[in-house]
Amino acid sequence: MSDSRLLKGPRAKIAPHRFASTERFPPMKAVFLDRDGVVNALVYHQDAGVIDAPFHRSQFKLLPRVPEAIRLLNDLGLSVAIVSNQPGIAKGHLKPELLKTFERKILSQVRAAGGRINGIYYCLHHPEAKVRKFRQRCHCRKPEIGLLEKAAADLRVRLDECYMVGDGIPDLLAGTRAGCRTIFIGRWKCEICQFTEGSDALPSFVARDLWAAAQLIRSEMTGAGQATSARSCLSAQA
Ligand SMILES: [Mg+2]
Ligand SMILES: [Zn+2]
Repeated sequence: MSDSRLLKGPRAKIAPHRFASTERFPPMKAVFLDRDGVVNALVYHQDAGVIDAPFHRSQFKLLPRVPEAIRLLNDLGLSVAIVSNQPGIAKGHLKPELLKTFERKILSQVRAAGGRINGIYYCLHHPEAKVRKFRQRCHCRKPEIGLLEKAAADLRVRLDECYMVGDGIPDLLAGTRAGCRTIFIGRWKCEICQFTEGSDALPSFVARDLWAAAQLIRSEMTGAGQATSARSCLSAQA
C-alpha cells in the first residue's frame, strides 16, 4: 500500500490527527525477517561452488549487530518474526536437527542483547525435493505469502502493519503481495532492477544490513531524520 493511498484513505479522513506523530503511516506492529543473508551470514560452499545457507554447525554465524537491531525493533514496540525458506532438508543438504541448533544460536544471542523473537516460521518444501514428503508446490515458499500470513495471524497483527526485510527478490515479492512495507538488505546494484521494474518487487527501502534497516524503521516510525526511499536511491544512481 502506498503512502498516498494511506493519506487519502477513509481512516485518515475520519481521524486526521490519529497518526499525528508518524503522519504517513498506520502504527506498525511487527517486522518479518528473512533468515539467510539478513540474520545470519551466507556461506560459500566450495564443493558445489554456490553461495547458500549454512549447512553445518560451524558455518552458522550471526551477522554483525543483528541482536542489537532486533532489540531496537522491540524497543520501538515491534514484534519480530523470522520467515524463511529452508529447502535444505528437502534437498538433502541439511540435517533436520541443525535447523533447531541454528535456531538456538539465534535466540540465545538475541536474548543476550535484551531482544526477543516472537516466532520462527519455515517453509521446508521444494518442488523438486529429494525427500518425498517435502516435494510440493506450497503456499508457504516465498514469494508466496503463507509464512507471512501465519506469522501475522499468530501475532494478531494485520499484514499492512508489518515490515518485510529480506535480501532476495522472493522476500520483496512476498512482502509486497502481502501488503507489507519492504526493505531490501544488501547493495542495490543495477542488475537487480531488471527483476524489480514493473513488478511487485521494488522495495520501500534499501539498507546495507539489519542494523541500518532498524534505524530506517525507527526514523519512519518516530518521524525523526530522513528515511531515504528505494526510489530516490535508484534515481540517485541513475
Ligand atoms: Mg535470504
Ligand atoms: Zn512451503
